[in-house]
Amino acid sequence: MSDAQSILLILLFFYFIECLKWAALGSVSFTVWAVFKPFARIQKPTVDFFGAKKRLFLAPIIPAFKLQLITDKTHEAGHLSSAIKTVSGLRRRLFYLRVRTLPLRTLSVLIFATYFIFLPALYLNFGLGSFLYSAVGLGYFLQFVCAIFYFRAHRYFFPEQLGVRILHTFYNIILPWHAMRASDEFFIKSSAQWSELAILGATASSDQINHRLALYWREAQFLKAPSYSVATLKQIFDEINIPVDSAMALVVPEKEGRTYCPCCGVVYGNAVRHCLDCGKLGLKKT
Ligand SMILES: [Zn+2]
Repeated sequence: MSDAQSILLILLFFYFIECLKWAALGSVSFTVWAVFKPFARIQKPTVDFFGAKKRLFLAPIIPAFKLQLITDKTHEAGHLSSAIKTVSGLRRRLFYLRVRTLPLRTLSVLIFATYFIFLPALYLNFGLGSFLYSAVGLGYFLQFVCAIFYFRAHRYFFPEQLGVRILHTFYNIILPWHAMRASDEFFIKSSAQWSELAILGATASSDQINHRLALYWREAQFLKAPSYSVATLKQIFDEINIPVDSAMALVVPEKEGRTYCPCCGVVYGNAVRHCLDCGKLGLKKT
């Protein structure tokens, strides 16, 4: 393996590490498109470390096109008074974040392309040469500009965190993989203060999100200890104009003569009486 290939491998390794995001065990991660309307998907954790009470998520590998939001469900219990709980408030905050971090995200994509596409292509075609060093110089110039934009955006969104700002500005200047993911911090740190329900409400255009909302509504109807109360859910359903009746109609299986759980919708054999996932809730027949 040549020196250049080794350097590329090291870059890829550190970039991959940068894409791994740790969160509390009760956290939910969403990936949101950066360019179009806030269409989102709920992301499965890569690994759960139950002993360490941590959950690991892999961020979208191409930087800046998809944004990652991570929130902790315990916020619903009012542990954080600053949590954004309304859909309209969250949409506004997400809009500002996307606009304010646009130059930063553009620079991250350019730095990613410089190190992982432009430099390897130059090396493969022309080998080591002075122009290759110039291209590395270009990469570091972009990182420097990225660090300036990072500093400005960070001062706007997290004015009180000067120490973090200075440290990460320095990292962006010297570490290419850090500059490629410079905008992650803004979305992950901000969304830690947002309620899961408000994120679901603000991105309720996809089936997956609608199904999750409907499941929470049914839990509130059937379970003794649901994730959210009826009153909290009603607020979100009203705000996004989804009738709560539609949440109840989603689970009935098409086949006749089957038993199913009216809450989570899992279909069981006829010998089973109670749903194993929903606190021994009685099953229904189609
Ligand atoms: Zn169930």
